[in-house]
Amino acid sequence: MKRLKYFIITFGCQQNKADSERLAPFLEKQGYFLASSIDKADCLVINTCMVRQHAEDKIYGLQKVVKLLKEKNPNFKLILTGCMVGAMVKDLTKKYYRKIKNRLPLVDQFLSIEEVGFDIPARRETKEHAWVVISNGCNNFCSYCVVPYTRGREISRPWTDIMAEIDCLVRAKIKNVTLLGQNVNSYGADFIKNNLEKRKYTLPDGKQVIPVMVKMSMGRKRIPTLFPVLLEEIAKKHFEKISFLSANPWDFSDELIDVIVANPNIDRYIHLPIQSGDNSVLKKMNRFYTVEEYKKLVTKIRSKIPNAKIGTDIIVGFPGETEKQFENTVQLAREIDWSVAYISMYSPRPFTASAKNLNDGISRKEKSRRLEILDDIINKLPRIKNP
Ligand code: SF4
Repeated sequence: MKRLKYFIITFGCQQNKADSERLAPFLEKQGYFLASSIDKADCLVINTCMVRQHAEDKIYGLQKVVKLLKEKNPNFKLILTGCMVGAMVKDLTKKYYRKIKNRLPLVDQFLSIEEVGFDIPARRETKEHAWVVISNGCNNFCSYCVVPYTRGREISRPWTDIMAEIDCLVRAKIKNVTLLGQNVNSYGADFIKNNLEKRKYTLPDGKQVIPVMVKMSMGRKRIPTLFPVLLEEIAKKHFEKISFLSANPWDFSDELIDVIVANPNIDRYIHLPIQSGDNSVLKKMNRFYTVEEYKKLVTKIRSKIPNAKIGTDIIVGFPGETEKQFENTVQLAREIDWSVAYISMYSPRPFTASAKNLNDGISRKEKSRRLEILDDIINKLPRIKNP
């Protein structure tokens, strides 16, 4: 009997990469084997991203290849998973479902990532490093971002499941781990929410922790998070390096900074998205903090962690971003001296507030010009690093 083979194509962020690492054993459980190349596969899984229009377009572009593969092998199966399927499932109007069915008629199966789950042992790409998902989804609804509509509301993975995975990695002698979540440093806020009146949280080992109560932080009313406690627990496991992605500025508490300071095996690279260096753009983005608050946080991190390297994300050409507002971001880039910036051009995303309410009036040419200016300042020119 012919052994059916699968091939996975992954688009998008590290969370999607981690999801694909669990998709592989999920398919193997169903009797599939890994194909060495796409043309040897009987089943292609596309793990989709829709954070920008460009990412979505690449997926539509794969239809030609799939058509040829289906002509060659009549039993060839196309499975779609990831963010596009997440959005389809969550869209109660079914409009997005109809759009995808229409644009991608060759799809045989839509697989929601929740069906794969978070606890299936991953097939890691390397023996050195492991992604560990600690939370999924987001509650913040930045006005440009589709994530709350694709991955849904933020849900933290149970502490015991995370620590069980961490213990497996220790036994497998994995050296480096990266903890993942859309708001990785909000981990556990959903657990604490139900225990707020007690002001303490009991960990599965019986230890009671009293997370630092943050009432207002960078313009947001925050409840405490368990991330510093979790990070410290994982740091004790003697990995060579523990990294985490992506941290939001409003949950970057003093407690978290102290944990980083106390544990040299926690990565000194800190990714801290700003998105814009202009307060009125930030407000329209629903980002709440001000540039001044962000700068204060960076100064605090650098003073307490002198070898910290801080990277960021920036969106250029957000609806209505004037030349002056863009210049404010340029000015901030010169001041802050980020180690790296992931800069993207704004593109309206379905379901989001900015797509519904704001006019994407800045031309692609102008967005591209702004991107290049920032890229030259932050990512290309030799800069004096923090000591
Ligand atoms: S914090 Fe904002 S940008 Fe990040 S995933 Fe949530 S909504 Fe998107």
